[in-house]
Amino acid sequence: MKRICPSCHSAHVIENIDTHQSMTAPLCSPKLLAGLGVSVCKYYKINPMIGMVAGSALATVINLAQQRLMQPPLLRVAVQPRYLCTTCQHTFSV
Ligand SMILES: [Zn+2]
Repeated sequence: MKRICPSCHSAHVIENIDTHQSMTAPLCSPKLLAGLGVSVCKYYKINPMIGMVAGSALATVINLAQQRLMQPPLLRVAVQPRYLCTTCQHTFSV
């Protein structure tokens, strides 16, 4: 089904991809925190495996807390796609 711009009635409308989800994800990735844990343990001369496990566990806790906080707005974004008119740069949702 083709969308029509409500502002200029042009058919040159593309789906506007929301970048909110990808912006928050890399900040608390388990890989990143595990790596951080390893370097901290190397610095204090502790077994790096402990740091890796601790880092991964911390990442899991942060991600769970984030998911709980982020869920309502993210769900709203998912059910309401946004569109961008390439003729007049007008953004609208259905
Ligand atoms: Zn338009």
